[in-house]
Amino acid sequence: MRYELRCRECHKSWGNVPKSICEDCFSPLEVFYDYDSIRPDVTRDKIASGPPNIWRYSALLPLPENFEPTLPVGFTPFIKASGLARNIGTKNLYIKNDAVCLPTLSFKDRVVAVALANARGFGFDTVSCSSTGNLANATAAQAARNGFKCWIFIPADLEQAKIIGTQVFGAKLVRISGSYDQVNRLCSQIADEHNWGFVNVNLRPYYAEGSKTVGYEIAEQLGWRLPDNVVCPMAGGSLIVKIKKAFNELIQLGLVEPKPVKFFGAQATGCSPISTAVKLGNADIEPQKPSTIARSLAIGNPADGHYAIQTITQSGGWSEDVSDPEIVKSIQLLAETEGIFTETAGGVTLGCARKLYKSDRILPNETTVLCITGNGLKTTDVLTGEYETEEPIAPKLAEFEKYLGQTLDVQEPVVA
Ligand SMILES: *Cc1c(COP(=O)(O)O)cnc(C)c1O
Ligand SMILES: [Zn+2]
Repeated sequence: MRYELRCRECHKSWGNVPKSICEDCFSPLEVFYDYDSIRPDVTRDKIASGPPNIWRYSALLPLPENFEPTLPVGFTPFIKASGLARNIGTKNLYIKNDAVCLPTLSFKDRVVAVALANARGFGFDTVSCSSTGNLANATAAQAARNGFKCWIFIPADLEQAKIIGTQVFGAKLVRISGSYDQVNRLCSQIADEHNWGFVNVNLRPYYAEGSKTVGYEIAEQLGWRLPDNVVCPMAGGSLIVKIKKAFNELIQLGLVEPKPVKFFGAQATGCSPISTAVKLGNADIEPQKPSTIARSLAIGNPADGHYAIQTITQSGGWSEDVSDPEIVKSIQLLAETEGIFTETAGGVTLGCARKLYKSDRILPNETTVLCITGNGLKTTDVLTGEYETEEPIAPKLAEFEKYLGQTLDVQEPVVA
């Protein structure tokens, strides 16, 4: 077998089944690979000759035999952010831009693609998830594309764009009056009663592997090199752990030179169980009650909190958190310097990165990658009130010249 589920702690094998928790010790299950059998299939040339999407890394993903991809997901732009770097007084700054990941404009398209490949393999006809918004969009869209029935569970107070952006695909959307953590607990109970594929419950070990593709792409797009630092937003804490796993695999397979990479986690202060634990030197999180505009990151009891803390501290990295006003300011800064409109989670990443530069935890000569994971068009409500809607002027040149005269003296950039 090329891969199978094993317990992260007691290492018992469970084969390939829709299951996320070890029945012996109640620890999470993870996909383990036989790298010796994979090695011949993964060379830089073979990957480069693959399709321009995550399926170029299929040999490194848990995909059932005879799986045929139905959507080009991922391989998002990777850019040198010189304008942003100048603004914050640094250099060697890069952005991994999953604000434009297809099909639904967040990195969650990657995890859902791998989860649904396995949902099909396990014979489910209905897929489901608990979501803070982006996972709902990605699951609903890809369920439609692949002919699954789809049930989505969300906390009632999500952004309108994420609600409509789920319903439009014909998914059944169930709003729960409660926090994400309560929605997630409910989904675990439903998964015991109904034979559905919950992408982030019983399919979670497979789902989580999809996040590795962010790491593979960063390395390949840097010219098969690893960066010095990665700054990554954290909700459940899975993405940051899986980028690290991806880098380790590339080293183990001889695709990149071994090199220490520091991992920096980013959270909103209003929901910061992981960054709080890192700052206090704790190995485990204390659950929090979220209160932040960064709804996509508002998980008070993150499933992979323990492993995210471990990834960060063992790498010599750090974790920061930023206030809601700083999130908004960072959304504007990224837009004005790089032309990238990110959602609140991206504001969290950039806001934390600015703090990390200011405190010299990240240095200017180091190669640093910011993971921008979602699109600003889904969270425009947080910018309401930031910009004036002025009275319209008549369609006459003289009117415009008058307007221009009045405007020129008072114009200033929003982000100084
Ligand atoms: C879900 C999400 C994250 C965090 O992912 P985890 O793997 O749960 O830590 C980051 N950014 C966005 C936009 C998300 O939707
Ligand atoms: Zn176990």
